[in-house]
Amino acid sequence: MPLRIKPCGLASEPGGMTQRSCVYFGARYVLGPIREAVHLVHGPVGCGYYGAMIRGEPQDLFGTALSDEEIIFGGLDKLKKALHEAFALRPTNRGAFLYATCPTGLIGEDLAGLAREIESETGRRIVVVDCPGFSGKSQAGGHAVAYRSLLNLVRPFPRAGHPTVNLIGEYNVAGEARETKRLLEELGVEVHTVLTGETRFSEIEQLSRAHLNLLFCGSTAREFASALEERFGLPYLKVSFYGPSAVRASLRKIGEALGLSSGRVEGLIRDEEARTFREIRPWLKLFSGKRVLLVLGAGRLGPLGRMLRELGFEVVGAVSVFGSSEDHREAAPVSGFIADDPGDDEFERVLSMLKPDLVITNAREQWRAVKLGFPTLAFPQERSHGPYTGYQGFANFVYSLVRVLQAPVWRLKAL
Ligand code: SF4
Repeated sequence: MPLRIKPCGLASEPGGMTQRSCVYFGARYVLGPIREAVHLVHGPVGCGYYGAMIRGEPQDLFGTALSDEEIIFGGLDKLKKALHEAFALRPTNRGAFLYATCPTGLIGEDLAGLAREIESETGRRIVVVDCPGFSGKSQAGGHAVAYRSLLNLVRPFPRAGHPTVNLIGEYNVAGEARETKRLLEELGVEVHTVLTGETRFSEIEQLSRAHLNLLFCGSTAREFASALEERFGLPYLKVSFYGPSAVRASLRKIGEALGLSSGRVEGLIRDEEARTFREIRPWLKLFSGKRVLLVLGAGRLGPLGRMLRELGFEVVGAVSVFGSSEDHREAAPVSGFIADDPGDDEFERVLSMLKPDLVITNAREQWRAVKLGFPTLAFPQERSHGPYTGYQGFANFVYSLVRVLQAPVWRLKAL
């Protein structure tokens, strides 16, 4: 059967197959790891269960576990009780994120009214995250809702006395922020917070003490970074730490924006590149001309595609699960074939059409490729093999690729 190519950025078809998550999950993905805050899901227990594991890690999460009867007659009393109980169990937490879900959105629960009441009773900040699952076409809608909900937490603060940045849209998957922070610290730059890979409620309130925001995932956090620029005069730079070319360009841009010594920046780049290429050179011939298919959430398509081309791969396809037009524009120079929202069946057809030597995909989407015998590397990478950012990450990525491509199991492929 021919492959039906859909235009990018559309809502999933009702009744069709999709790998997308709901808006609520997208909001949880962004906000879930924020510390010093109670996270409370107002909805059935299934929503709570769905939002409990974020980026491969279990997160501290409370829920109202609404019954059918409470959905019919209203669950605000239960929510109020649950919030007080959560604060009693987490007495040092400074505030709370209160997530709406499909059932509470449908019956129109007044979360904002309750939040104001609890704020005046407890003196704590309650952030309502208006993210019923049905209120957008994918988890990307939840990312936007999450960032908007954070905006009102940020307050004016005096700038730090030394070069300081925030990492925005950096989710610290498998410790990726660690390598970025190491490189910045080598240049004498302090990272105030990693939003939202490694952050606390109080750090978000003080975001404006930095001199510069570094924007990693542009499609989800650009609106947030622009709003901070408008409100606090805090500029932002779009950067990427995937692959030496991107790291080199990003370090130079950061150095220029913060007025760092160019000798120091160039010295770091020279030393790190020399060490990294010495390590990986023996493996590069294994990659030359190999055809790779990317099937990833959204923002990593372009950066990862460029890193793979730098290693000698041909990127034969770049498929997003919930990509925006910015993600697709970024991926266009690395691959002639771009698609969005593949169902399981469509993914299989893309695999048989393109017959890649390697598939790089999300943890959840990896199984179809694995079952069909395609060498597959899944993101987020296991902690023991990552991170893949920065110079050390580039070497880690090479070792992961070698391990996958040379694994004897693929010789048993039946296809
Ligand atoms: S918010 Fe809606 S779509 Fe998302 S898990 Fe809950 S019921 Fe399902």
